[in-house]
Amino acid sequence: MPEPELHRSQVGEPREEREPVLVSACLLGMNCRYDGDSNLDSPLIEQLAAERAVAVPFCPEERGGLSTPRPAAWIERAGAGAVLDGSSSVVTGEGVDVTEAFVNGAQAALTACEENGIRRAFLKERSPSCGVCQTHVNGQLVDGPGVTAECLKRAGIEVRGVEGRRE
Ligand code: SF4
Repeated sequence: MPEPELHRSQVGEPREEREPVLVSACLLGMNCRYDGDSNLDSPLIEQLAAERAVAVPFCPEERGGLSTPRPAAWIERAGAGAVLDGSSSVVTGEGVDVTEAFVNGAQAALTACEENGIRRAFLKERSPSCGVCQTHVNGQLVDGPGVTAECLKRAGIEVRGVEGRRE
């Protein structure tokens, strides 16, 4: 009689658990930037491969309903927390209010984390959505997170800023 085939986990080897992590889609080479380009970041991809992490690509601005390419936008005043709390806005350079798309995209990113058991996110620095240490307020680069980074931080998810476009 042939021996039954056993999976490694059945003979005492722990099954490998690979950690899912949320990643700004543009950092993975997707052309979802406002100008239709990407921010492909090879060192990040190598780092995630070395950690055997599973990248879950996510673009909050596209998910929030904005098209690509799209006009550049920034937080109007007071930072991303004020946008999430309803006391500030996100506007394009032409003054079009895109707050709803930015907030919806941030909340969709949080839902993606919750549905995939994600506890860490690698996000593109300086974006009004994804920036972690710096973002754009009133057309200026300032210290502070973007709307999605702030939303994830509030939920206890570890957010790491990635420069983008490194060779
Ligand atoms: S920085 Fe964030 S919002 Fe902007 S293109 Fe990349 S993933 Fe999308």
